[in-house]
Amino acid sequence: MKCTACMALNAPDDDFCVSCGQYLDRPGRIARAEKAEQVRNTPAWAYFFAALCGVIPVFTLGGIVPIAVGVGGVTGCLAVGRASSVPTAFRVLTCLFIVGGCWGGTLLFLMMLFKSLKHR
Ligand SMILES: [Zn+2]
Repeated sequence: MKCTACMALNAPDDDFCVSCGQYLDRPGRIARAEKAEQVRNTPAWAYFFAALCGVIPVFTLGGIVPIAVGVGGVTGCLAVGRASSVPTAFRVLTCLFIVGGCWGGTLLFLMMLFKSLKHR
């Protein structure tokens, strides 16, 4: 790839320019840096919503379904929170929706579980 400093052509897998030693930004590195930047820029409220989903398996004392719901909720809230191209108000609402869905689904699952246990 082309060096941005001296315009010398380098091999695609070179990290530094062979001519001037300038650091070459390869797409993989850029993507990784952006990802790190996103994690750094995660708003506090995203962690709050993620925590609300994260406590589901604690609340239900484990279980594969609540754990799956909890992990999914945490992942979803953090992903939505980091989507900086979407307006903040909309992201907060989406997180509320995810938390509500996770808790609603968990409570429904528990109700069905207790119902089936009673019938046994
Ligand atoms: Zn160069």
